[in-house]
Amino acid sequence: MEPAGALPPSCSPAPEAAEPPGSPALPAEERPSASAAQEARRRGPDPQGPAGRGARGGGGRAPARRGCEPGGRARRPRVTVDSSKAKTSLEALKISLRQLRWKEFPFGRRLPCDIYWHGVSFHDNDIFSGQVNKFPGMTEMVRKITLSRAVRTMQYLFPLEYNFYPRSWILPDESSFFEKEIRMMKDRDPSWKPTFIVKPDGGCQGDGIYLIKDPSDIRLTGGLQSRPAVVQEYICKPLLVDKLKFDIRLYVLLKSLEPLEIYIAKDGLSRFCTEPYQEPTLKNLHQVFMHLTNYSLNIHSGNFIHSDNVNTGSKRTFSSILCRLSSKGVDVKKVWSDIISLVIKTIIALTPELKVYYQSDIPAGKPGPTCFQILGFDILLMKNLKPMLLEVNANPSMRIEHEQELSPGVFENVPSPVDEEVKVAVIRDTLRLVDPQKQKKKDIQCQTLEHVSDTKEELLDAGPPDRLEHDANKNTEAGLPSLCLKQVFPKYAKQFNYLRVVDRVAALFIRFLGVKGTTKLGPTGFRTFIRNCKLSNSNFSMASVDILYIDITRRWNSMGIDHKESGMCWQAFVEAFFCLAQKKYKSLPLHEQVASLIDFCEYHLAVLDEKRLVCGRGIVERRNALVTCQTDGLQLTPAAHTSLLNRMATASKLADYRNHQY
Ligand code: ADP
Repeated sequence: MEPAGALPPSCSPAPEAAEPPGSPALPAEERPSASAAQEARRRGPDPQGPAGRGARGGGGRAPARRGCEPGGRARRPRVTVDSSKAKTSLEALKISLRQLRWKEFPFGRRLPCDIYWHGVSFHDNDIFSGQVNKFPGMTEMVRKITLSRAVRTMQYLFPLEYNFYPRSWILPDESSFFEKEIRMMKDRDPSWKPTFIVKPDGGCQGDGIYLIKDPSDIRLTGGLQSRPAVVQEYICKPLLVDKLKFDIRLYVLLKSLEPLEIYIAKDGLSRFCTEPYQEPTLKNLHQVFMHLTNYSLNIHSGNFIHSDNVNTGSKRTFSSILCRLSSKGVDVKKVWSDIISLVIKTIIALTPELKVYYQSDIPAGKPGPTCFQILGFDILLMKNLKPMLLEVNANPSMRIEHEQELSPGVFENVPSPVDEEVKVAVIRDTLRLVDPQKQKKKDIQCQTLEHVSDTKEELLDAGPPDRLEHDANKNTEAGLPSLCLKQVFPKYAKQFNYLRVVDRVAALFIRFLGVKGTTKLGPTGFRTFIRNCKLSNSNFSMASVDILYIDITRRWNSMGIDHKESGMCWQAFVEAFFCLAQKKYKSLPLHEQVASLIDFCEYHLAVLDEKRLVCGRGIVERRNALVTCQTDGLQLTPAAHTSLLNRMATASKLADYRNHQY
């Protein structure tokens, strides 16, 4: 739906407050709630200015006939949004909805809504249609341990491409490995004096984080078994501004998983430490205001500066930092394109397992909502301007207020202009992008994504956030500013598609999961995978297959991530798959071994599918003639050959592509 402001003011649909309570034209739950009206009154005039006032019937214009535009055309229904579970993002969501003039249901609705806005996770209630602003499994996916594992899988395959994530070890599983590796590295280079940061899994806001100089300093009190953690190489040389360490919170919209669509907000927030930075020494390791950039920690420092100005204070816009760097001659275009690349690669690392969660919660063919999600990427710029990923947040704070201590012990929530500027724009523009009515229009116009992905734009052309461009493009859509979210995928797909190999492994895993609603592969499913892909032979018997399954599954299950289901989890399958690839294609580098095994499996599954298809067709055609179809000895029809040839051509194109890359 085009926001109402696209229509001449007199045609704009009436906002909530203009609907008389109890209007018989609307079902009860469509009537504006008292709280919505109160909220509208509290917020004051519509930020859309004259257009909004016109919509309220002000300025002496005759109100449009209910449900119709002048000329008798039916008015498009307003997009409906259930905000009853929005939690701390409610304030920013309300402002966004008012700007869009969409219909909010603050207490939920009996009828389905177009969009459900959840503050925490996908599983807030049962939804069978529309769109939800959370993906199933995302919270689990971006926990420190799961994220580290997903990125590590990609580091095994593409070490150079994934060097934006600090070297990490998982505790307690890899404690001894961590110790051994560090000892070895120190022996090799005695001048190496590393620092490590220990971060409890599932922690946030700096909770439980501490720095150490030696693996033996890991604190075992509190029980690592009860609270697993990630230990990471500490980035000792961050870029400083005003002598302070800072990080970047960047908002990323994962609009769709299949096909993959990613948008990045043109501006983010920079959160500053409140003590001048010094490289870590045994003396300053514990100084959190010097080493940790978390807002929730630094707000308690006497040095924290609240500022209404986006260029100063302890929380600033990222664009203000880029402006400053640019004035010092830094190539901010390159910084920005490196950040885009980091975001795309990270999402590519997350998508395979997300797809496993997705099919388990929303099995293909069953009614369910589609999903999108705003993610918060925490990025640190190193002194040499290389961006490093710290973590991904599934529920980035969308608060636009902060607590201020008026007098000792007396707190008040006061608006934070910096947060409001960035966060309202992100929510509003996310809604504009997932607008169901625009989506419908798009489908009708057959704007295929393939077309978009054909663009040959270079990543470097992405350019940094440009305030001027942003402002100049105001009024492009219904009086709203130009979108603050910039598409980066499929726009730059050509440069990153070669990294998407693990997605194809996930497709194999999902195919053999069998029973819908599960995320673990049983022994029969694994055997069927081996058989159907023709992976067993005289050197690799089915007995060895069973041993492989039991060994790997037992080890992963003993790590105690998820005991709800038995069977082989996704990460265990990845390990088994890599193991099979190494066995089968000995002399190649790992990513080529894996890609070759995927091609091999996909080929045999395609052959099998064609056989089944032909066999099924044959059975129908020859049922009366009582001809039995022997799958194994079957000759493929020319049609089947064509399809297989196409598949093989795709596989060889992929091989060419990979060769081209390396
Ligand atoms: P949390 O979820 O608790 O905020 P983070 O992973 O974001 O955990 O870490 C908290 C802070 O610690 C970050 O904002 C950053 O300032 C600092 N930090 C985290 N990891 C590193 C690292 N590898 N090197 C340097 N600083 C780090």
